[in-house]
Amino acid sequence: MSATLNPRPRIDVPPTVRETLAPDERAALREQCRELLRANDAVLVAHYYTAPEIQELADDTGGYVSDSLDMARFGHEHPAATLVVAGVRFMGETAKILNPEKRVLMPDLAAECSLDLGCPPDEFSAFCDAHPDRTVVVYANTSAAVKARADWMVTSGSALDVVRHLDARGEKILWAPDRYLGEYVQTATGADMLLWNGACVVHEEFKGEELAELKRAHPEARVLVHPESPAPVVALADYVGSTSGLINEVRSAPNDTFIVATDSGIFHKMREAAPGKTLIEAPTAGRSATCRSCAACPWMAMNGLRKLREALLVGERHEIRVPADIAERARRPIARLLEFAAARKQEIYGNNDA
Ligand code: SF4
Repeated sequence: MSATLNPRPRIDVPPTVRETLAPDERAALREQCRELLRANDAVLVAHYYTAPEIQELADDTGGYVSDSLDMARFGHEHPAATLVVAGVRFMGETAKILNPEKRVLMPDLAAECSLDLGCPPDEFSAFCDAHPDRTVVVYANTSAAVKARADWMVTSGSALDVVRHLDARGEKILWAPDRYLGEYVQTATGADMLLWNGACVVHEEFKGEELAELKRAHPEARVLVHPESPAPVVALADYVGSTSGLINEVRSAPNDTFIVATDSGIFHKMREAAPGKTLIEAPTAGRSATCRSCAACPWMAMNGLRKLREALLVGERHEIRVPADIAERARRPIARLLEFAAARKQEIYGNNDA
């Protein structure tokens, strides 16, 4: 069984505005940020959707570029006193929840996420109260307050495993906030899931009909789709997976050409992983176009070197804070996922976890 009940909350989507820098200024900012990271005992943890210069700085300074689960894991295990999270707000909050003793800075605290904004804590709490017989599973892309109301947190890479595990125990699930990811998981697992009606403004824009046309024009291409995309797009995929999974697929699949349905920021790491392979953006425009993001998240684009330098210089105005009582309750579903993922890894790789 699957259903969505709530009307979709209205979200104001800002335009996608990327930082523009002359080469000299970019080089100078990189050096200043590098020095400030060192002086602040800070490490930069960036998401795959951020700008190439942010990802390169993270890689060059001993930081990390990854998906949201691995970002959280890396930040938790790294000894730095300050974590600088280049991504969107829920990633900074997750870092703070897992590391209450550390200072967590973000280049821009206005970097939100349509999934987070589309799941207000009070309305979500009422939705949970109305279905007390269900295990509450929320996607990582939610506020700390929503996580505090959940039993489990999942990521796109772990959602299938966790839901299968809960389904095998006979648990019925209340899922939030991404209805498309929820539908994908529900179809794949057959679990009993009640879905919140939220969506990612980037992935919701991909078009099934136009993707089918593009596929016909490139029959040699392997189609890679992130499961936050609508079902007609997922149905055309040769591979469906998390951002890390999509990059791995470009590296390891024998094809030379790929059509990719996720934020175009991921192309930077894909090109590094498989230089010479051809990457084509899945269509967001076409006859049925309603493109508001055009495969570029407006909130991820708020991360730039100037703002990163400012965060490291002034700290205070860029610091993530989560009230202690909310952090304590939100830690449980996150920790549950981290333990579950570690146990699964152990099951698969045993002690040869190189
Ligand atoms: S790409 Fe979508 S899910 Fe990711 S941060 Fe942007 S709005 Fe949220």
